[in-house]
Amino acid sequence: MNYQEIIDSQRDFFNTNATKDVSFRINELKRLKSILKKNEAALYKAIDEDFRKSEFETYVTELSIIYHEIDLALVKVKSWSKKKKASTGLTNLPGKSYIIPEPYGTVLVIGAWNYPYQLSLCPAIAAIAAGCTVILKPSEVPSRTSEIMAQLINQNFDAKFFKVIEGGVQETTDLLAIEFDKIFFTGSIPVGKIIYQAAAKHLTPVTLELGGKSPAIITKDVNIPMTAKRLIWAKFLNAGQTCIAPDYVLVESSIHDQLLSAMKEQIEKSDYNVDNHNYTQIINEKNFDRLQDMIDPNKVFIGGNGNRDQRVIPPTVLKDVEFTDKVMQDEIFGPILPVLTFETIDEAIEKVKKLSKPLSCYVFTKSKSTKNKVLNEISFGGGAINDAMMHFTEQSLPFGGVGNSGIGNYHGKYGFETFSHYKSVLQKPFWIEPNFKYSPYSTKKLNFLKRFIGL
Ligand code: NAD
Repeated sequence: MNYQEIIDSQRDFFNTNATKDVSFRINELKRLKSILKKNEAALYKAIDEDFRKSEFETYVTELSIIYHEIDLALVKVKSWSKKKKASTGLTNLPGKSYIIPEPYGTVLVIGAWNYPYQLSLCPAIAAIAAGCTVILKPSEVPSRTSEIMAQLINQNFDAKFFKVIEGGVQETTDLLAIEFDKIFFTGSIPVGKIIYQAAAKHLTPVTLELGGKSPAIITKDVNIPMTAKRLIWAKFLNAGQTCIAPDYVLVESSIHDQLLSAMKEQIEKSDYNVDNHNYTQIINEKNFDRLQDMIDPNKVFIGGNGNRDQRVIPPTVLKDVEFTDKVMQDEIFGPILPVLTFETIDEAIEKVKKLSKPLSCYVFTKSKSTKNKVLNEISFGGGAINDAMMHFTEQSLPFGGVGNSGIGNYHGKYGFETFSHYKSVLQKPFWIEPNFKYSPYSTKKLNFLKRFIGL
C-alpha cells in the first residue's frame, strides 16, 4: 500500500466510529503496554546499539515515562472523554449547553531522535486515548530504535488504526503532502517551520515541540553543591542531547568560582564514561563535528577534546563565555555547558530576553522576589525553581514551548486535549420559544430586549 492508501484506510476506519468507543481505546493502550513490556530486552538492545544508552537511562527517561502515560490514560480516559456540562444564559433557557470532546481523526506524529521511544510513543498514546488513528514517523537517525518500533507496532496493530512508517526527509515530505486531521511534530525549529507550512496547505492543526537555548539563572544565595549536583545531572544526562537541558548558565559573579569548582567535583563524582554505561555517545559524526566546533579551547574549564571514532565528547564546561561566542549562537544539544556571569538580576533577565523565548528556564535562588521577578518577566515553555528538567516528569503539568520553542503542549490530560476537538452544543426543547428575536421588529421589542439582556 502506498502512503495515500494507508491514510485512506485509516480515515475509513475512523469513520466506522470504532475508535469513539472508549473501551476500544483502553484495549489498544493495554495492548501497547504489554507489547512494550514483553519486548523490553529488544528495546534496550536497539537503543544501546544506536548510541550506547544504558538500560538504566532508557528505563528512567523513556520506558517509565511511556508506562506512566499509558497508566494515567487507562485510569482517566473515561472521564476525559465525557461530555462536559456548561452553563446556559437566560437567552437560551430552558436549553442546555455542553461540550463534547471528539477525536481529531487521522493524525501524523513525527518524532525526534534524542529520546526516540518516548518522543514518538507518548504523543501516539495521547492520540489513541483521544480516539484518533495514528501514523507514526519516528526519527530515522537512530535507525535501530526506528526499526524496532516499526516491527513491534506493525506486527501487533492493524495498519488502519496504528502504523509506523520509517524514513527521513523524503518520506516525511511525501507524508506531509497528504491531508491529516492533526500533525504532532517534535524536532528542530527550522524543520518545525517546514511542517507548519505543509500543514497550512490543508489548514491542519499542529502541535510543534521545538527547542532553543534554555537558561539556568543562579543567584549568590543558593546552596552551591546542591545546585551543581542538579545542574550537572540535567546537563549531562543523555550527553546533553535533551531539548530541556540547561543550555547555558548565568551565575551571579560573586559565586562564579565556587560554582565552577562544585560542578567539577560533581562531574568527577559522576564517573561519566560510555564504557561503564554512565554516559551516552553523540548520536552521529555530523553532530560530533558540530559540537566540537562550538568548543573554544581557550575557554575550556573542564572537558574539551572528544573522540570522534567513539563519538564521545566528555562533559565540558566553558568559562568566561560571552553572548557573542559561537557556543551562544545556537541551541547546543550536547555535553557543553557555557558559564556566563551577571551582576544584577535585571541584567540577567535582559540578556535572556534578547534571545528567543526558551523551551525551559531554570532559576536557582532562595529569594522569593527574584523567583517571582523571573517568573513574571521571562516568557518560557516550562521550567523549575531550584531544579532542572524534573518538571518534565510531572504529568499534571502541560509540556510544550512558546514562541520559537513551540506551539501547543501535551502529557497526561493535556495530551488528550491536544488530539481532541471540543465541540460545543446548545440543546433546546420544542415547548417554548419567546418571540423577541423575530421580526417584525419594533422599538418596544428592542427596549424589552435591552432590559432583558441587561447590556
Ligand atoms: P529534526 O528537526 O532534524 O528532525 C525531527 C524529525 O523531522 C525527524 O523525524 C526527521 O526525519 C524529520 N525531518 C528532518 N528534516 C526534515 C525535512 N526537511 N522535512 C521534513 N521532515 C524532516 O530534529 P532532531 O535532530 O531529531 O531533534 C533535535 C531538535 O529537536 C532540537 O532542536 C531539540 O531541542 C528538539 N527537540 C524538542 C523536543 C521537545 O519536546 N520540545 C524534544 C526533543 C527534541
